[in-house]
Amino acid sequence: DVSKGYLLYLEDISVSFDGFKAINNLNLYIKEGELRCIIGPNGAGKTTMMDIITGKTRPDSGSAWFGQKINLLEMSEPEIAQAGIGRKFQKPTVFEHQTVFANLELSMAGAKGVFTTLMARFSASQLDHIDHVLNQIGLKQQRNLLAGALSHGQKQWLEIGMLLMQNPKLLLVDEPVAGMTHQEMDRTGELLSSLAGEHTVILVEHDMDFVRSLANQVTVLHQGSVLAEGTMDQVQSDKKVVQVYLGE
Ligand code: ADP
Repeated sequence: DVSKGYLLYLEDISVSFDGFKAINNLNLYIKEGELRCIIGPNGAGKTTMMDIITGKTRPDSGSAWFGQKINLLEMSEPEIAQAGIGRKFQKPTVFEHQTVFANLELSMAGAKGVFTTLMARFSASQLDHIDHVLNQIGLKQQRNLLAGALSHGQKQWLEIGMLLMQNPKLLLVDEPVAGMTHQEMDRTGELLSSLAGEHTVILVEHDMDFVRSLANQVTVLHQGSVLAEGTMDQVQSDKKVVQVYLGE
């Protein structure tokens, strides 16, 4: 059991760009069902870390294991997605001219695409899955609306729903609440918390109030390594963390 019981196990990962160490002996251990928040000042290496997990960037050294025995460093980006790691980037990218329902249908694992939509032939279990995700993301009432007509927050939830259609084990979510109203932020917090357990979630977030509201484990990245880990209150009272944030 190379992953030592963790769902995601990154050990001693380093990567340099033109001699600059963007990730420097990074260690990250994520348990199944966790909702882990990753914070850190600009340039800390958060995006690069996500790129390594999804296979977009190859580290120079270290190891990265997913599940019991999947070596992420030997897999291509599509293979990693196939293995159950889904990523949501900051900006929502939904199909604006399709309905909410069609967006989910088109994202279904093994979807045959628009043809299936036109024929409106779904198996009962596929319909159940779409229904379940519509409930999770709170867009049941909007199922027949064009995605382009949704609010910014609703588009973000729809995109999370599109990832959920593929049954990911691990969801990587990048700053989902940027540009949201307070109400939308609360709803997003509920959504992410409800996903943890059934899924595992890694959230990169700048909004400290939002991270605190989730009341989960927080990892602070700085200069490509872990500076502190713990609850938001614990990491915020850590002298090293205070220094990094005041010095930004
Ligand atoms: P964060 O997401 O925490 O803001 P990044 O992972 O984007 O940090 O960047 C970490 C550091 O690596 C930054 O100094 C950034 O300029 C540098 N960096 C990231 N990607 C590249 C790249 N492709 N080429 C050169 N430098 C990069």
